[in-house]
Amino acid sequence: METAIVNITEENQSEETIREKIYAAGQIIQQGGLVAFPTETVYGLGADALNPQASGKIYEAKGRPSDNPLIIHISHRKDLDKIAKNVPEQARKLAEKFWPGPLTMIFEKSEIVPLETTGGLNTVAVRMPNHPAALLLIELGGGFIAAPSANTSGKPSPTQAEHVTEDMKGRIPMILDGGTVGIGIESTIVDFSEAIPMILRPGYITAEMIQEVIGEVRIDPGLITEDAKVHPKAPGMKYRHYAPKADLILVSGSRERVQEKINELAKKAAKEGKTVGIIGTEETKSGYQYGLVKSIGTRTDAASIARHLYGILREFDQLDVEMIYSESFSVSGIGQAIRNRMLKAAGHQVIEV
Ligand code: AMP
Ligand code: MG
Repeated sequence: METAIVNITEENQSEETIREKIYAAGQIIQQGGLVAFPTETVYGLGADALNPQASGKIYEAKGRPSDNPLIIHISHRKDLDKIAKNVPEQARKLAEKFWPGPLTMIFEKSEIVPLETTGGLNTVAVRMPNHPAALLLIELGGGFIAAPSANTSGKPSPTQAEHVTEDMKGRIPMILDGGTVGIGIESTIVDFSEAIPMILRPGYITAEMIQEVIGEVRIDPGLITEDAKVHPKAPGMKYRHYAPKADLILVSGSRERVQEKINELAKKAAKEGKTVGIIGTEETKSGYQYGLVKSIGTRTDAASIARHLYGILREFDQLDVEMIYSESFSVSGIGQAIRNRMLKAAGHQVIEV
């Protein structure tokens, strides 16, 4: 299949030209096809959420396990009640505060949502993204777009159109290129299908921000436990995920000890003839002596670390790096989401120093 890569950010194109391009993308969606598109979190791989065959194509293109449900994206708050039932008042408050934005909420699904879209569950995940092109595509594509991240299952999520091209070229008819995304990690997921709301996936919207609006929120015990028998509730969180080709190891502890340990490990691996990558920060990158050193961002701005995480993992893949040693980051605020993604990318390999 020929994949059209359609730029919607280049200068010298009118609003009208961009609208025409997104209209064409919306037509593909309405006809049951797939379009990859930018959102504020990561690139999504979209299909008509109410068309079971169309949702099925997403699983095929990504190689995604069929029990892993898709998030349905809407462009107007009022559309929530068409696909969800028994939406509690607390969820409406969160929608009021954080939509459009990086927050996904789970409810009982309505009859119009096919089980193919929800991985066989009677619940549905819903989000309204904060990105003008995404919102227009949803509207022109029929109002309900099912979209997981636009990567091959298991790989780091795409934060640039080039990442989508790497994974999806020849598999889907169109990629809308909207440049580099703003946030860089997936939305926070809050489950409202049970009595007390529960965070199933940490993200840019933190537990503290949610508590401020609705009071109590729990965190899925499956996310924090070391007990392998306790599975996270979101089916997607149980798989190895976000993983580079290289073996990734996190080193955790005080700054000096971490640098020392990474230098020691990198030296050893390099001696064994391995290609080594190191993930440091603006503050620490000059302290490493071996391997390819990349700065993931600055410790004074955790959002910068989130924004660059997946891109760095893909860069190391392109360089055929075999071992990656990474610093680890504090777990307050958005740091919790960063920690969660890094642990999954590392298959939970952490060295404490
Ligand atoms: P992705 O869009 O690839 O970032 O993945 C969507 C995430 O949302 C996965 O972890 C899914 O398991 C989770 N998810 C979507 N719908 C539901 C649902 N109805 N119940 C629980 N988790 C869900
Ligand atoms: Mg994903």
